[in-house]
Amino acid sequence: MKTKERLAIPPVHMKEQDPRERIKNQKEVPLGYTSEQARREASRCLQCRKAPCVSGCPVGIDIPGFIEKIEKGDFQAAILKLKEKNVLPAICGRVCPQEEQCQLPCTVGKSRKSVEESVAIGKLERFAADWERQNGNVILPDIPPKTGKRAAVIGSGPAGLTVAGDLIKLGHGVTIFEALHKPGGVLTYGIPEFRLPKEIVNSEVEYLKKLGVEIKYNYIIGKIKSLVELLSEYDSVFIGTGAGLPSFLRIEGENLLGVYSANEYLTRANLMRAFDQDISDTPILRGNRVAIVGGGNVAMDAARTALRLGAEKSIIAYRRSEKEMPARNEEIEHAKEEGVEFHLLVNPIRILGNDDGWVTGMEMIRMQLGEPDSSGRRRPVPIKDSEFQFNVDVVIVAIGNSPNPLIPRETPGLKVNNWGGIIVDETTGATSIPGVYAGGDIVLGAATVILAMGEGRRAAQAMHEYMSKN
Ligand code: FAD
Ligand code: SF4
Ligand code: SF4
Repeated sequence: MKTKERLAIPPVHMKEQDPRERIKNQKEVPLGYTSEQARREASRCLQCRKAPCVSGCPVGIDIPGFIEKIEKGDFQAAILKLKEKNVLPAICGRVCPQEEQCQLPCTVGKSRKSVEESVAIGKLERFAADWERQNGNVILPDIPPKTGKRAAVIGSGPAGLTVAGDLIKLGHGVTIFEALHKPGGVLTYGIPEFRLPKEIVNSEVEYLKKLGVEIKYNYIIGKIKSLVELLSEYDSVFIGTGAGLPSFLRIEGENLLGVYSANEYLTRANLMRAFDQDISDTPILRGNRVAIVGGGNVAMDAARTALRLGAEKSIIAYRRSEKEMPARNEEIEHAKEEGVEFHLLVNPIRILGNDDGWVTGMEMIRMQLGEPDSSGRRRPVPIKDSEFQFNVDVVIVAIGNSPNPLIPRETPGLKVNNWGGIIVDETTGATSIPGVYAGGDIVLGAATVILAMGEGRRAAQAMHEYMSKN
């Protein structure tokens, strides 16, 4: 097909569940491509020689390579190509902010002057990974003979899973130590089922187990065993413990009953299955009017979860305008379609409660945007005498998370920066302790799945070199 013909093919839309139906269930919102749709979308790719899309992918997937295989209908070859660089394609295809990464520099999007019209790289990646899972055609890579070296990985989020996958494929023994009773980190306890079905996370973890990775659950390093003890038993250690420490508003009334951190709320709903009353008795306040403070992916996930748990109203309260919202456009659109109310340029100054200690409302103040701050976004400034009240019975605070402090606090000599992130060598992920590496949110602060994986990949290579020499 000629370039002109390829450019004339319109983007292939992926069907989604009807918003009126989907707020009554936990099923995934986008329904996936059929084989024909995937091949048609793949035929929009121009197979650019310099492939600018590849430089937008933090793990450097051969994007034209895997798309070409899909176009030809060789889905097995497509997934093998993807897995050369990415052990979690079904996950990245769903949750990567593609419009800011691989799809941003895509030549098709540029020529159509809209990133929305770039080749749908993420959706095609998801298609290939789902095809493999649904057809049971998982081909295990050849593993070299055992090296006799053993690595310990702390945390089973995307950073830890990537390190485990890379090291086992190099012939090393790998044991993951996970504090929770299930693997996946935020993929399991944070991101809801309707965005990332847990069956997918489980099958990616099963793949690693088949390769020989061992996982020990309910195992908190820093409590059950120290990092120093672990280092005496293993040849190298990776810390991928994430950024699970929620930030709070630090305003009056934050200790009232009915105030959650988004982390706690989503953990109850997702990991502890509070939405599924047939199998779980995890308590959660369903609320009539639920307010979520914040404007990122976490806030959108909490707001949409509140609707699925039966709230009459789910309200996003954000202190800047929609343009500055850190959430992906797709998440904002999905939330709006489902009926989440957006109150922009407002900020809570006090949470109100009754005599029994339960939340009854929030006192808010209106904001306007001033000069850009250190984040480059315009700073929100309160407007004098603009206070007003919201009547709400549940408040969910989703204003950010910091690195988990337990291991740095318990480990002498492990250097951290002023916001608690572990300090590492940028090219290797090496920490201040020889043989110990770190990556993902514990180093970057709350970031993204693919960045955590990129960090894991880099650290695994350095750990491999370290173990080969020592
Ligand atoms: P985590 O995923 O946090 O995993 C860390 C693991 O370490 C956890 O399982 C934890 O239990 C375990 N652990 C912690 N301490 C210990 C210890 N002492 N001993 C043993 N185990 C320990 N990113 C995107 O790219 N797209 C999205 O759409 C997106 N949505 C998000 C939605 C929510 C609600 C949240 C909270 C985050 C979202 N993110 C998203 C961010 C992304 O999930 C994280 O950047 C990513 O998961 C970080 O990976 P990680 O492996 O560093 O840490
Ligand atoms: Fe794009 Fe993420 Fe896939 Fe890389 S891993 S190609 S950034 S969707
Ligand atoms: Fe295909 Fe776009 Fe990458 Fe070019 S930039 S190879 S069109 S996906």
